[in-house]
Amino acid sequence: MEKYDIVVIGGGPAGAAFSYFIDPKYNVLLLEKRNYGKDTLHKKSCGGLLNETAQSLLSALGYGLPVDILVNPQVFHVRILDWDNNLSKKYYKGYLNIDREKLDNFLLSRSERENKGLTVRRGAVYHDFQRINKGAYRIKYRMDGILKYAETRLVIGADGANSRVAAEIVPNIQNDYISIQRRYKKCREMREFYAILDRSVNDYYSWVIPKEDEILLGSILRKDGNPRERFDLLEAKLREKESVIGDFLTEEGAFIKRPGWKAPFVGHGNFGLIGEAAGFISPSSSEGISYALKSGYLLAKHLNRYGSETGINRYESSCAGLIRNIRVKYLKSKLLYTPWTRNLLIRSGIHAEEAL
Ligand SMILES: Cc1cc2nc3c(=O)[nH]c(=O)nc-3n(C[C@H](O)[C@H](O)[C@H](O)COP(=O)(O)OP(=O)(O)OC[C@H]3O[C@@H](n4cnc5c(N)ncnc54)[C@H](O)[C@@H]3O)c2cc1C
Repeated sequence: MEKYDIVVIGGGPAGAAFSYFIDPKYNVLLLEKRNYGKDTLHKKSCGGLLNETAQSLLSALGYGLPVDILVNPQVFHVRILDWDNNLSKKYYKGYLNIDREKLDNFLLSRSERENKGLTVRRGAVYHDFQRINKGAYRIKYRMDGILKYAETRLVIGADGANSRVAAEIVPNIQNDYISIQRRYKKCREMREFYAILDRSVNDYYSWVIPKEDEILLGSILRKDGNPRERFDLLEAKLREKESVIGDFLTEEGAFIKRPGWKAPFVGHGNFGLIGEAAGFISPSSSEGISYALKSGYLLAKHLNRYGSETGINRYESSCAGLIRNIRVKYLKSKLLYTPWTRNLLIRSGIHAEEAL
C-alpha cells in the first residue's frame, strides 16, 4: 500500500488551490474522478461565470488565466427578470464568461506541474476510508476498474457539494437543493446574463447565459416535490416571455449547497474540508469558485505554518472570516428572495445601470 502524508479527494478549484500551495515537503496524493476533456460522465455542471471576487483572488494568488478559457460573448451585466413583480432591471457586473472544464484543467495541471510533492490520479474514484491505527487511515479508491488503497495521516475533502468525505465525518449532513441545467441552440444574439426570479419555479433564482452558439438555462430547485416539472414550467415561461432559446440540446443535473446561518464543519484533527464540501458557497448567488480557492489556500497555508499536528485546527479558526461573509450573504438572500422586499430594492434603483 502506498503511503502519503496527505490524501486530497477532489481536484476542482478547492483541491487544485490546496495542492498548489501546500509545501512540497508533504507527500500528497490527489484523487480526481474526472478525466478532463475526455470524461463526459463526470463533467462539472456550472454556469461558468467568474465574478470579480474570484478574478481578484486568482490575481492575488498569482494565477494568470490563458485566453482559451474564455467563451464568447463576454457579459458585462446581469438583467434581473423579476417575474413575481413583473419588473426588469439591468446591473453592471464584471464577469468573465468561461469554459469551466478548461478552468479546472488549467488549475489542476498547474499544481501538478509546479508542486514536486504532489501526485495526481485522474479518473480515480474515492470510495471510503478506514482508521487502521492511531492517526493513520486507509483510503480506498477505484481506478481503471481496479480497487486501490493508500495510507495517509491527513484526509482532505475537496469533493464538492455531494462530498463523501463530509458524509463520513459530519453527522446528519443534509442537502436540500439540486440544480438542473439545459443547453439549447441560440435563437438570437444575447449579450447579458439573465437572473430570473419566480416563486412558482423556486425560492432561489434561475439563470440564462449565452455560450458561443448555445444558451444555458439553469435553476436551483428544492429536491422535494418534482423539480423537473418546475424546470419545465421555467422553460415554458422563458419561451413565452423571451425568445432566446431554440432547440433543446442536452440536460445535466448536480448537487448544490445552500448554506444557512449555522456555521459549517470545516475540519478538525486529521480531517479537513475545503470548498463546497465544507459548505463554502454564496447563499445569495451560488458563486462558489472564489470560496473554493480561498479555503484551499487557507488550509495549505496553515498546514505549512503549523505542521500536520495542529494545522487543520488552526485552519478551522481561520475560517471565521469566510463564515461571517457567508452569513452576510445569507441575510442578503432573505431580502432578495422575498418578493415584496425585492420589489422595493429593484424599484429603488440602487446600483442599477442608467437606461440610455
Ligand atoms: C449548476 C451550477 C452552476 C454554478 N455556476 C457557478 C458559476 O457560474 N460561478 C461560480 O463561481 N460558481 C458556480 N457554481 C458553484 C461552483 O461550481 C462550486 O461552488 C465550486 O465548483 C466548488 O468548488 P470545489 O472545488 O469545492 O468543488 P467542485 O468544483 O465540485 O470539485 C469537486 C471535485 O471533486 C471531484 N470528486 C467528487 N467526488 C469524488 C470522488 N468520490 N472521487 C474522486 N473525485 C471526486 C469532482 O469530480 C470535482 O472535480 C455553480 C454550481 C452549480 C451546481
